Amino acid sequence: MKMKIKKGDTIELISGRERDKGRRGEVIRVMPKDNRLVAQGVNMRKKHQRQVQTQGRTISPGIIEFEGSIHISNVMLVCPKCDEATRVAIQREDGSARRVCKHCEALID
Ligand SMILES: [Zn+2]
Repeated sequence: MKMKIKKGDTIELISGRERDKGRRGEVIRVMPKDNRLVAQGVNMRKKHQRQVQTQGRTISPGIIEFEGSIHISNVMLVCPKCDEATRVAIQREDGSARRVCKHCEALID
């Protein structure tokens, strides 16, 4: 299965933890091999950081928040035209594949 979502797209979380459902964010990383992606501000995780010393610098202890990866089956692309979370159709033209919103039929690329 080919990834239909690219870095820079906006996605909406359609399943997952209750408080995150419906949350939108910009895709900042895609991992096509794992069918996963990371989106800004979506699926935030907390990590406890211990105090560490590296090269004379001290990283202070505390809680670090970071974006956890999400499986692509849990997200939908948000169409920049109609602002709906939508499925994407692939339209082939002149040998190139273009993404089309199934909702408003706008070209997404
Ligand atoms: Zn659309």
